Amino acid sequence: MKRVVLFAAMFVLAIAAPAVAAGPSPGASGIGDPLFPGLGNGGYDVQHYDVDVRYGRAYTDPVEGNVTILARASQALSRFNLDFAGRSVGGVVVNGAPAQWQRDGSELVIAPRKAIAKGALFVVTVSKFVAVPTVPGDDPTSTALFIHTSGTATAPQPDLARYFLPSNDHPRDKASFDFRFDVPAGLTAVANGVPLAKWTSGGRTHSVFVQRQPMATELIQMAVGDYDITYEGFHNGVLLREVTAKPLTPKYLPLLDPTRSQLDWMKARAGAYPFDLYGSLVIEADLGFALETQTLELIDTSWYEDYGQGTWDATLLHELSHMWFGDSVAPYAWSDLWLNEGHASWYEFTWGEENGVLEEDTEGYPDDTGYATLDELMKAVYAHGDEWRAESGPVAAPSSADELFAFQRYHGGALVLYALRQKVGNAAFLRIERAYPARFKDRSVTTDDFIALAAEVSGRRDVVPFLREWVYGAKTPPMPGHPDWTVNDPATQRTLTTPNRRARK
Ligand SMILES: [Zn+2]
Repeated sequence: MKRVVLFAAMFVLAIAAPAVAAGPSPGASGIGDPLFPGLGNGGYDVQHYDVDVRYGRAYTDPVEGNVTILARASQALSRFNLDFAGRSVGGVVVNGAPAQWQRDGSELVIAPRKAIAKGALFVVTVSKFVAVPTVPGDDPTSTALFIHTSGTATAPQPDLARYFLPSNDHPRDKASFDFRFDVPAGLTAVANGVPLAKWTSGGRTHSVFVQRQPMATELIQMAVGDYDITYEGFHNGVLLREVTAKPLTPKYLPLLDPTRSQLDWMKARAGAYPFDLYGSLVIEADLGFALETQTLELIDTSWYEDYGQGTWDATLLHELSHMWFGDSVAPYAWSDLWLNEGHASWYEFTWGEENGVLEEDTEGYPDDTGYATLDELMKAVYAHGDEWRAESGPVAAPSSADELFAFQRYHGGALVLYALRQKVGNAAFLRIERAYPARFKDRSVTTDDFIALAAEVSGRRDVVPFLREWVYGAKTPPMPGHPDWTVNDPATQRTLTTPNRRARK
């Protein structure tokens, strides 16, 4: 019944559309992501962000900023929204003219003096916005712009950039970035992208970083504090930059040595590294996650202190692999997250198998350590198939935003890739894995984009229904080549809770 009404409504809209299409109208307050209805915005596509931020001496001091956004209108706009949930906004200018604006929850609603034509480029400046660094805690928003022992850093995934930057906060709208920092002399600032300039005058240090390849807002890294930045030259054309909280440098800089060999290992499997530079930002903390902030992944000391060298190295590999899978190629909707985490877990596990890490029995990872081979691990994951589909939704159809970062997207996503390899054979699988980051470089892709590419590259049309059943089906399909593998019955198994954030990488 509902469906009939909906179709009738669409029919009326379709008839009415030509009459109303000419005039400017408000951009949508969400980009159209079912898991995060208010996230991102409609009606425009950001090309570039120029972020200009001023930090205080104390890490707890509010951060004041200006952001200038170059965007292209995808419809005629009478008004449009940015996402912003920080403390306050000073003013908004559109195309050089002061604009009317108001805050509505996490939305910054902007009415330009003159409507913006469809297809036109326009410039928005939000001035004197204020964001407040917070202490990481149970509230996930507290990790957006957070304080740790040596300074502040950011961890915006999936929907937290809006807490410190007026933006179109959704990975569907990627853009290039400039970051300009103004910090008290003696503190060090660093962000995604290559360093362009640095100078000190009047007791303030200014530095500029340029992220020229498009980036999703969830991958912003802005860190200010007592950091060492160590440039280690180029490795096969990639500038290596490691950032360590100063007290950690003697111990942790050497622990980042695997980066070179891991870059080679990933390049052999996924093709050329997609950005200009790479490195880690190591802080003393126990955040409960590591994050693939673009070109400068965030990792804390707990990964080494609590879990040891093997897990540390495997986590470095996981975050590095995200530069291809998740960063350069971003998800179109958050339900496509398995394309990030399934691939990153796949490379983490296969690297772990080659390097003996899978065998280590590390408490805190119930399902990815203590297995001699990838086959054994995948068999154990396979057994969870129906449980996880019931509890957190199919691999590419999370049941809710709360279930987004469940094991299903990580181990479940890796299992889909394992099934694909079983189906098409190793040679075709390797071709797919190289074609995917090359074809979709700098873009945001859907699960169906991946499926279509896998079918095209393998030359097998039956890959489409095969993968669709694996990622969308309510039941776990049979595993090709392993007719003996069985799935636990969810009715008789323990009820899974959402994994704690320890599982997040
Ligand atoms: Zn990950």
